[in-house]
Amino acid sequence: MSAKISFFKSVEQYVDKAAGFTDIPKGLVEQIRVCNLVLQIRFPIRIGNDYQVIEAYRVQHSHHRLPTKGGIRYAETVDQDEVMALASLMSYKCALVDVPFGGAKGGIRINPHKYTPDQLQSITRRYTTELIKKNFIGPGIDVPAPDYGTGPREMAWILDTYQAFRHGEIDSIGCVTGKPITQNGIRGRNEATGRGVFYGVRECLSHAEDMKRIGLSTGIAGKTIAVQGLGNVGSNAALISQQEGDAIIVGVAEREGSIVNPKGIDVDALLKFRKETGSIIGFPGTKHIGDSSAILEVECDILIPAALENQITIDNADRIKAKVIAEAANGPITAYADPILQKKNILILPDFYINAGGVTVSYFEWLKNLSHHRFGRLENRFQHNTFTGILKKVEEMTGKEVPQRDRDFLTRGGTEIDLVNSGLEDTMITAYQQIRQTFLEHKEIPDMRTAAFVCSLKKIASDYIAMGIFP
Ligand code: GLU
Repeated sequence: MSAKISFFKSVEQYVDKAAGFTDIPKGLVEQIRVCNLVLQIRFPIRIGNDYQVIEAYRVQHSHHRLPTKGGIRYAETVDQDEVMALASLMSYKCALVDVPFGGAKGGIRINPHKYTPDQLQSITRRYTTELIKKNFIGPGIDVPAPDYGTGPREMAWILDTYQAFRHGEIDSIGCVTGKPITQNGIRGRNEATGRGVFYGVRECLSHAEDMKRIGLSTGIAGKTIAVQGLGNVGSNAALISQQEGDAIIVGVAEREGSIVNPKGIDVDALLKFRKETGSIIGFPGTKHIGDSSAILEVECDILIPAALENQITIDNADRIKAKVIAEAANGPITAYADPILQKKNILILPDFYINAGGVTVSYFEWLKNLSHHRFGRLENRFQHNTFTGILKKVEEMTGKEVPQRDRDFLTRGGTEIDLVNSGLEDTMITAYQQIRQTFLEHKEIPDMRTAAFVCSLKKIASDYIAMGIFP
């Protein structure tokens, strides 16, 4: 058996397995599983005196809710199979966290590090133009966002291109999310996926019986974590787990290799070190243990693969030592490797749950864009005045003065970042409890991934049934 299988097939296998624990009709399962629309694009860009053909995709997996939603990735691994798999995961992800979108994904097969910012801008604008021509983008149609290899800068180019074609469309700013804050983005979106990983892991580790089953004590504080990938998701997950969760980051991997320090690595300092030297290797106090996959096998409580898909395969699954794996990347464990890890009693937090923080805050950004106002703008001062009034009354009645630090905290009105982070926290906790309940209530469901797919499938199926397509 080959260690690698098609990524889309891998997702299909998970879906089929989960569907067996539901009473959703077979034909409806098939409709949910397939990709509804696949757009394959080729366009030229000029490099020096020559031209290069760029290969790009946008896949809309499911239209049970609209718009469809999902990031755009720039990577050399991009092909139709990968984008289809990622688009389908977006449908299950959105359903799981009650974000009312269908799933989609885009991809351009390039290594962005090999292009100048001007060339990247040309590629992004041309790609957006192709999406506009095919009616594959719009605030009510399909809303892209950042993914591997893209960020707020690319989203700003997409918005500008869209607005140039759709001048005067009042909701045009909602055609893409993950934009810079100054360009109608939302505070907290940039770190949302990593922050969501932290909230999800913390929630998972808070259940005593579950932890007992895998031989861990409760609580994230003091737990050892190894992270593969220091991109947007990995770096924020590590940083927030360390700063807000008091976890110990014992290992980190990037393209150039894996480093460990059982006493803990200061993630903030490591990120600065890499910015200055271009590498994590040689960071004081750490040991270089091998290439970027070596990190997967280190001794730790929690492993966070936050790079690309197909990292844990039948070749290395047996050597994984972590007790919990949080799939911050999409598809880091192949369908063949999954049962090996389950047999080893490893608790897997599946990708389409644990990395759902990004699309959750994208949803908040889209709501902000459609409502044309910043969350907290209308009520912030009003709440502050009300709380100050209540506090004053309490002080009068008790004759005691509340210290300034407590006063600042208690009289705060909700600002945009407060509301975004609390909305994200609530979403991650609620979704975890749903998965856990499904897992515990149905003894025949073997693992959390299957339980999560059952939750999503039931929600998507009920949308289709409500549409009357499947009476
Ligand atoms: N690319 C991210 C994901 O895979 C975010 C998608 C979005 O915000 O629409 O979930």
